[in-house]
Amino acid sequence: MLEIRNLSKTYNNKVIALKNVSLTVNKGEFAMVLGLSGAGKSTLIRSINGLISVEAGSIEFEGVSVSNKENINKIRKDIGIIFQQFNIIKRLTVLENVLCGRLAYSNTIMSSLKLFKKKDINWALDCIERVGLKEKAYVRSDQLSGGQQQRVGIARALAQQPKLILADEPVASLDPYSAEEILELLTEINKKEGITMLMSLHNVMLAKKYGNRILGIKNGILVFDKQVIGLTEKE
Ligand code: ADP
Ligand code: ADP
Repeated sequence: MLEIRNLSKTYNNKVIALKNVSLTVNKGEFAMVLGLSGAGKSTLIRSINGLISVEAGSIEFEGVSVSNKENINKIRKDIGIIFQQFNIIKRLTVLENVLCGRLAYSNTIMSSLKLFKKKDINWALDCIERVGLKEKAYVRSDQLSGGQQQRVGIARALAQQPKLILADEPVASLDPYSAEEILELLTEINKKEGITMLMSLHNVMLAKKYGNRILGIKNGILVFDKQVIGLTEKE
């Protein structure tokens, strides 16, 4: 599904964030990118949907090159992304956030529900229900807990019907209990809906517990690639 070859990224011509990273993610996997702060996880995750441009190497999603600007909008529709800081609009309700996510590509933010089609509203409500926030659909997002705000982020990603969800340290801002709840929700989405997951994490215990594959990254270099079940080591 995702094929990354010899990816390198240097910031400001001096900070090496990624060095010759190659990896393949198969459909249905729940892959964890594990590494310390500054290892290059975020750069790797964000380069996949073009949020960061790389200087060398290639990324192909279902055979289509991400570096080609003409392809990026199509690829972004198939790839949802969630963030450490949730990146939701706090003054909007849960429903509005999920609806606006669908329009993110046209940079339009509509805060009146009247502007949306009934079909889109129903679809957004369905996504909200899938993350367990049905009762909160009309509540302003700033009244939600951190874990609930991340659920809004997940619902927004689901609304675009992604084939792959990228998650950049999605639980690093949450308390341990909420963190596991979010990882359980993502596991359920991965198993039941078959959506592939690629996530960055710095917590070894959580990576082993929830991932079925661990990609270890250190100083921008991929240092190991292990299946959690089966333990077949690459290098
Ligand atoms: P991680 O997600 O594992 O914490 P990052 O990908 O954020 O790692 O960062 C990798 C390296 O690149 C670090 O040394 C970091 O300081 C540097 N870096 C990240 N973003 C930028 C940026 N916008 N400008 C300069 N250096 C950056
Ligand atoms: P964080 O606070 O998690 O480090 P940033 O503040 O760096 O994240 O935000 C990354 C950028 O990605 C933001 O400008 C955000 O608007 C943008 N973004 C959010 N969702 C998407 C998406 N689905 N596709 C592309 N870009 C997105």
